[in-house]
Amino acid sequence: MKDESCLFCKIVSGDIPASIVRKTDRVTVFKDIAPEAPIHLLVIPNQHFANMAEVSANEPALVGEMISVADQVATELGLSSYRTNINTGAGAGQSVFHAHLHLLGGRAFGWPPG
Ligand code: 5GP
Ligand code: ZN
Repeated sequence: MKDESCLFCKIVSGDIPASIVRKTDRVTVFKDIAPEAPIHLLVIPNQHFANMAEVSANEPALVGEMISVADQVATELGLSSYRTNINTGAGAGQSVFHAHLHLLGGRAFGWPPG
């Protein structure tokens, strides 16, 4: 169900504009407003969940759909490699509490992340 106070729910509904690159019946992909790489997209469920653990607990197949859509978009953008990142909880850097995964590409990434 839509959370009226949630930024990403408002992006899904169109109440707040975003550069949307893909929308399916269950997943939306749009450009991060503060990119950390030449390509930095956010892949989110259209339905509100606070984080990816909540998606996994309630709609496990949706986790796979999100990763599949991310891979399709990355391939279409010509990325031969890319990084996906999931932040769960404020201590890990989560700042928007609507589940999302980051899809980053177009530059080299080291490991472990900085
Ligand atoms: P988190 O830190 O929660 O893992 O990631 C949230 C991401 O959402 C951040 O990378 C941030 O730049 C992005 N973000 C925050 N507000 C907006 C917005 O209004 N529009 C878009 N497109 N991205 C946003
Ligand atoms: Zn939401």
